[in-house]
Amino acid sequence: MTLLDQPPPERDHRAERVRIETLPAGAIWRCLCTAHKLAKVSTHFIRGRTMPCRLPDGRCDACTAGLDREWECYMGCWNESRQVSMVLRVTKGAYEQVEDLAAGLLPDKLRGSRWTFSRPGESRRNKVRVEFHGVEQERSIIPAGLDVVGILYRCWGIPRPKVPGMVGHSLGGH
Ligand SMILES: [Zn+2]
Repeated sequence: MTLLDQPPPERDHRAERVRIETLPAGAIWRCLCTAHKLAKVSTHFIRGRTMPCRLPDGRCDACTAGLDREWECYMGCWNESRQVSMVLRVTKGAYEQVEDLAAGLLPDKLRGSRWTFSRPGESRRNKVRVEFHGVEQERSIIPAGLDVVGILYRCWGIPRPKVPGMVGHSLGGH
């Protein structure tokens, strides 16, 4: 190796760059689900960010302090509209539409399912609309699944539980 012949730094692992994404107001995202199942979790809104309720993996200070809890879930997907892999936040209302549209794919046959998530209007609080477009039959074109549970813990900034057999068990895996 010489001064002008140094290898570039190692590339980021794809999962390192993947983020939790919330559908913005006015957006229409077509998504190909790459996960078998959704990671489901109760959350608290603490100091401007969404954090998981630590129950049942441990003690939850937010619950002890009496903060409200909300339930939501996360879909690992290939966002065809933006050409990027992401972990999409699916609100309880959006999940209920997924349930109504494709109950037969729940809980663990979602891989390859195609969806449009849209949020009409100008507010992030507007309701998400969900459309289902069936399941991709050409299995080879479905991108590899993401480590959704690992990405969630990284984004939350808390260590993933290391107890054997309990790794992210309360999230329902991916
Ligand atoms: Zn809690």
